[in-house]
Amino acid sequence: MATPLPHPHVQAHTHLPPSFLDPHHLGPWGIFLQQVDRVTPYLGELGRWVETLKRPKRLLIVDVPIHMDDGSVAHFEGYRVQHNTSRGPGKGGVRFHQDVTLSEVMALSAWMSVKNAAVNVPFGGAKGGIRVDPRRLSRGELERVTRRYTSEIGLIIGPNKDIPAPDVNTNEQVMAWMMDTYSMNVGEASLGVVTGKPVDIGGSLGRREATGRGVYTVAVEAAHRIGLKLLGARVAIQGFGNVGSVTARLFAESGAHVVAVQDHGGAVYQPAGLDITALLAHVAAQGSVAGFPGAEAVPPDAFWDVPCDILVPAALEQQITASNAGRIQARLIVEGANGPTTPEADDLLQERGVLVVPDVIANAGGVTVSYFEWVQDFSSFFWSEEEINERLVKIMRGALTTIWQVADEHKVTLRTATFIVACQRILHARDLRGLYP
Ligand code: NAD
Repeated sequence: MATPLPHPHVQAHTHLPPSFLDPHHLGPWGIFLQQVDRVTPYLGELGRWVETLKRPKRLLIVDVPIHMDDGSVAHFEGYRVQHNTSRGPGKGGVRFHQDVTLSEVMALSAWMSVKNAAVNVPFGGAKGGIRVDPRRLSRGELERVTRRYTSEIGLIIGPNKDIPAPDVNTNEQVMAWMMDTYSMNVGEASLGVVTGKPVDIGGSLGRREATGRGVYTVAVEAAHRIGLKLLGARVAIQGFGNVGSVTARLFAESGAHVVAVQDHGGAVYQPAGLDITALLAHVAAQGSVAGFPGAEAVPPDAFWDVPCDILVPAALEQQITASNAGRIQARLIVEGANGPTTPEADDLLQERGVLVVPDVIANAGGVTVSYFEWVQDFSSFFWSEEEINERLVKIMRGALTTIWQVADEHKVTLRTATFIVACQRILHARDLRGLYP
């Protein structure tokens, strides 16, 4: 008798990273798998589709060779992962960072699927990245990396397929080069292929600030629900880039005191509240918050001990871990970053009664206004900043209310509640569409 073939699932994944199906792998993808496992008991009948969440739909790894200014040729590794497109085209940012891995991009793409469903925008989840330290590139090298990467992933992106946006170390200029490269390749002006573009080439008013504005909006709502007064509240923020700096400014304008800020270069602490405008100017000149006059320098790990009421991680993944979660003094954590809290830390914080508003709702303001940008590009009709901000706040508040109700109903954390709402929406779409062929 012929030896039976191995189960197709086993065969199909032998070439993928060891973390692909292993929830015990400590990388970001393993964390996502654990989060899905936690939510599966709440999915009812739809649970039969849950495996589709554990397998990204499409992973593309590309070589990005460029001419360096010194005449040499350098190669960088790039990724684009489309986790799930049941609810619409893929959507998610592009990260330029020397430590980017496929596992990380897989997790970030999956969190985009969850986030987009949580705020009910008609997108699936995707994410991209290049393993490169952009701080070490000249402007010309950065442009060449961006354009070559865009050409390579051009096979699978497009306004109706997958729409990139800014993430860590990418900005409006990078989006402008991506839009131009894609447009040149397809032979037409394709505004809707990326969001987070400059306003003069189809970007949306309010997009640059949208993620921070969304973080601030849910922080205000959550603080109100737990009886935490914003006026005079002490806020600590990790990360002072797009998300962290806008969040800091909005808190400071509302009468809260931003007492501590940490970035890649160091941490600063001022119990009376940092002057955010002066701090922004210092970062623009020096490249980091480190050395900011009028504030105390804090060693990196001591940042987690600072007395504060609200903590906003707005840098990278896996920052709040079992080793610092017990020391955090905040009553409320609002996740501006993607994946900043490990599952063990999540449990510890829950035991200690610290409320965590998870990334998959807290930082969804960016993709919400990206959705507005995409709609505006299709219709070539642009809205006022007031309209954008009003619609953003309405969506963020509405989504948080729904999630809070689900959390109360099932007596689960806001993270699990967000996953319940989002996974049900994604799997319902899968169920309606069925499998092809
Ligand atoms: P950014 O590149 O503008 O800023 C990143 C900040 O993190 C910088 O201040 C940098 O110094 C700091 N940082 C980097 N490494 C650090 C470290 N080891 N310790 C402390 N600080 C460190 O990036 P961004 O767009 O503000 O993104 C920040 C986070 O928010 C990421 O997790 C990103 O995925 C998430 N996010 C961004 C958006 C968006 O619209 N830009 C949307 C949703 C989520």
